[in-house]
Amino acid sequence: MQDSLAAIRVAPPSAQPHACRPGCAACCIAPSISSPIPGMPSGKPAGVRCVQLDQDLQCAIFGDPQRPACCGGLQPAAEMCGDNRQHALLWLTTLETLTQPEPPVP
Ligand code: SF4
Ligand code: SF4
Repeated sequence: MQDSLAAIRVAPPSAQPHACRPGCAACCIAPSISSPIPGMPSGKPAGVRCVQLDQDLQCAIFGDPQRPACCGGLQPAAEMCGDNRQHALLWLTTLETLTQPEPPVP
């Protein structure tokens, strides 16, 4: 399955630099992550909060080599982050749907 975070990383260069919004964590919840995460050895399903999010919605393994490479490669961008958390959750959920693999042909 294509990792939707990987799809974000190859987003067109039109994406503008954007500061990460404290208390958001939309990109740690909405997308699927196919790489193993400590505590989630099979990766993370879409729409599921990553177990490595702490109570302040910060990554508990930031800077740790066990943090998936796709997490480190994801940069905030105006198109994805928008002006509020709901925008980011909707945008990322839509991207997740659009990057689902085609169902097998019977
Ligand atoms: S969606 Fe954007 S603002 Fe929200 S946590 Fe991810 S990078 Fe930060
Ligand atoms: S490992 Fe950290 S950055 Fe990656 S999804 Fe989980 S909380 Fe977010």
